[in-house]
Formats: sequence, C-alpha cells, structure tokens
Amino acid sequence: MEADLCVIGSGPGGYVAAIRAAQLGLKTVCVEKESLGGVCLNWGCIPTKALLRSAEVYELCKRSAEFGVMAESVAFDFGAIIKRSRDITKQISKGVAYLFRKNKIEHVQGTATLKGAGKVEVTSKKGIETINAKHIIVATGARARSLPNIDFDGENILSYREAMTLKERPKSLIVLGAGAIGVEFASFYSSLGTEVTIVEYQPRLVPNEDKEISEELERAFKKHGVQCMTGHGVKSATVHPEKVSIAVEAAEGGSPKSFEAEKLLVAIGVAGNVEGLGLEEIGVSTHKGTIVVNERLETDARGVYAIGDVTGGYALAHVASAEGVFAAETIAGHNPNPIPYHAIPGCTYCHPEIASVGLTEEQARSQNIPIKVGKFPFGPLGRTVAAGEYPGLCKFIWDERDHSLVGAHMIGPAVTDLIAAPTLGKSTEVNAESFIDGTIWAHPTFAEALKEAAEDAFGKAIHI
Ligand code: FAD
Repeated sequence: MEADLCVIGSGPGGYVAAIRAAQLGLKTVCVEKESLGGVCLNWGCIPTKALLRSAEVYELCKRSAEFGVMAESVAFDFGAIIKRSRDITKQISKGVAYLFRKNKIEHVQGTATLKGAGKVEVTSKKGIETINAKHIIVATGARARSLPNIDFDGENILSYREAMTLKERPKSLIVLGAGAIGVEFASFYSSLGTEVTIVEYQPRLVPNEDKEISEELERAFKKHGVQCMTGHGVKSATVHPEKVSIAVEAAEGGSPKSFEAEKLLVAIGVAGNVEGLGLEEIGVSTHKGTIVVNERLETDARGVYAIGDVTGGYALAHVASAEGVFAAETIAGHNPNPIPYHAIPGCTYCHPEIASVGLTEEQARSQNIPIKVGKFPFGPLGRTVAAGEYPGLCKFIWDERDHSLVGAHMIGPAVTDLIAAPTLGKSTEVNAESFIDGTIWAHPTFAEALKEAAEDAFGKAIHI
C-alpha cells in the first residue's frame, strides 16, 4: 500500500493527526492493533468519566431529600455501572471509525513495525502487509507503569484496565499513587462504599497541583472516609487468598507499617510503548522509554515524527491531539503556530473536581516571579448554594509587574469546564484589567468565583 502518511496508533494523538492530514489532502493510513481511539477512548478519559458520573448520580440520589425529592431504597448495580462505561467506549470508538470513513482514511488493523525509511510492516491475523509512506507519525501511546517489585497480576494487583472492568465491587482497595488516575479511582470506589486507602510517596495528594488545592482535596477525601497515607513509599506487596497486603514506610524513614485490602491498584504513572517498533533499526533515539523529538516533533530519523504519550510529555489527551494537528500540518508543508505548552489545562475528575493552568504559587515563587494572589471559595455563590454543591476554592495568580496571568487553580463544582476561561486568558496573554473590568461574568454561575478570585488579588472582590 502507498501513502503520503502512515500514522501508527489511533489514540487522541494518532486519530486527530490522521484526520487533519486527510483534511489537508494527504493520502493517510492509520494502523491500530486494538480498538480505534486508543487509551483515551477505550481505557482512559472516557470510561473513567462514565464511571464517575454513575458515582455522582448515586451520591446525589442519596442526598435527594435535601432537594425535596424522595428517592427511596437508593442502590446501585455494579455490573450495570461497568457495562454502561464499556458500552460508551464502544459507541465513541465507532465515532472515530465514522470520521475515518468520512475523511477517506485507510484504517489498517494490526501491529506496526518500522522496517526502514518510509516502510511500515503490519502484522495481523490476515498476514503481513507493507505500507510505503513518505512520512510516518509514531503515536503508540503508553501503558500503566508497574513498580519493580510489584507486578500486575490482573486479579489482585491491578492496573487501570482491570480496575475499570471488575466484576464485583471490592470491599476494600489500596490505591498506590495520588495523581489524577489514582484519585479518580479512589473517588469512584469510595462513593460506592469501598474502603479506600491512598498511598502516595510525595507529601500530598495530586502533588503536581497547587499546595492549597491538594490540602482541600485531602480534607474532602478524609471527610468522605478515604484514608490518605501521603509521604509514604511502598516497600513490598504480598498476595494472599482474596486479599493483598502492602508494607509502607514513611518517606523520612521509621519502621514500616502494613495495610491490607481486597485489591491493590497501582497508579504510579505510565511507560511509553517503544518496544518492538523497530525504532533502533531506523535510527530513532529513545530516552528512558520515550521517543526523543525536537520542537517540530521530528525524531532523529528523517520523515518520522512522534507525538503524544510515547514522547513522555504531559500524558494528556488534549496535548496528544494538539501535537497530532501540529505534526500533520508540518508534514503538509504548513507552518503551524507553536503549541502553547505554557498554557496546558490539567483536569482531574474526582469529587470535588480539580483544574489548573499555568504555574502554581510555589513554582512562581521559586522562579522569583513577583506575584499577587487572589482566592475565592465557590461556597458563598448563589449558584453553589442553590445547587447544593461543594464549596471548594478558586485561586488566581497574577504577575505583579504587568498583571499578566501566571496561573489559575481550582477545586469545586464544574471546574473542569471553567478552566477554559483562564486557559484562553493565558494563551492569549490576558491581563487582570481585561479579565476583571473588561469582562462581564454571567450571574448566577460558578464562573463568578473566577472573577472574585481574580479581583481578590487586587483587593477588589465584592463578596468577601
Ligand atoms: P494512546 O491513547 O495510548 O493510543 C496509542 C494507540 O497506539 C493505542 O490504541 C495502541 O493500541 C496503539 N499502538 C501501540 N503500539 C502499536 C503498534 N505497534 N501498532 C499499532 N498500534 C499500536 N487524559 C486527559 O487529558 N484527560 C483525562 O481525563 C484522562 N484520563 C485518563 C484516565 C486513565 C485511567 C488513563 C490511563 C489515562 C487518562 N488520560 C487522560 C491520559 C490519556 O488517555 C492519554 O494521554 C492519551 O490517551 C494519549 O494519547 P496517545 O494518542 O498518545 O496514545
């Protein structure tokens, strides 16, 4: 088969790159060994959000009397919750197949290996097929990373794939790692009544977020009965009949403690899918299990690009997609704008939700940026009271010199959507004056907390 572009992998990096390339007139082939849509649609972003929605509905039903609604004998069917999540992934994966047909992209099912300049070999049940392509984009993504002495067994020691397809709800669960994936699963299972313990080596939950946001999440989790063992590393895990025990040690030392639970979920990050691709043969450099690229997303091999999780960057679907568009436009001879890596929103869909963009207060101070910080909780807003929502916190950080936006950090209702406003502000270099005085914020909305937090930095917040 001859093509202008062969994309390997159909996650949010690969499928978006393929569509953009086809829009620009390139004859495009996309090779995928599993289901269209990659981890994001099949095992990541979408199925977890479906599970979390079920948990949210259940929690809300339990509180229904608060809203004057009588929902008696509120219960859940765990199997039906899992099935709904799996059905949604199938539906969305079909959407990618539709977009491929619409854009005349050839979808080749099988495992791709690079076999020399412009040559991709695809192995499938049907045999071996060779694709000759002028350009190649490697978008093979990543998989769950395990700890050296704790291997996944799929039964008791789980990765995210097994954790979202369990047949029965575990009565107890230990989650290793308090990043986005870990706290989302902790939130889901805790809502359904599982006894959850999170173990995190760093001194706080969601360690990449602003410290105050981490502290607020820990308060909310503890209130919900989640045990938070921050500042603790895992030494070992032992599988017993129907349970797992782990030995943990405080980061600063001391005698080990042990915990046990029905299941252990290891959510300590991801490892790039670089093995078996033939990267070495064609001269693509790797570093610590990820593909090395330059600012144009080119690898060391001419005509071969790499995007998304396999490059070891942000491990976020929207970054993979932005890189996919950038690589496709570059290959098509366009000169795309640089990707605004300084303004990447990060969202975590636990309850309460978390979202952020830009630098945290600690990062800004450690870079000696003179800052003005403003804060406002969602609690006092009419919309929050009416909705009976979590009070949370919104925090804005401005540069004292030119009033440009340094960062925005939020925990509370709808923040994973609200983050779009400061993200736009950051990428378009908004200043405090236009964000506050030059913009009208609709009432009553959760977004009013953004305005008040932004104002608070200058002593102008009205409702404090
Ligand atoms: P992937 O989505 O990993 O896709 C790579 C594809 O390549 C796979 O389908 C794989 O089968 C295929 N492939 C690999 N090797 C070959 C080969 N040799 N031949 C053919 N095909 C191959 N991100 C967010 O932004 N928001 C979220 O809410 C979010 N939630 C997440 C929840 C979980 C539980 C997990 C695990 C991840 C989550 N992520 C989230 C991260 C997000 O899923 C990834 O950043 C994103 O999927 C990366 O996209 P990608 O295109 O680089 O790779």
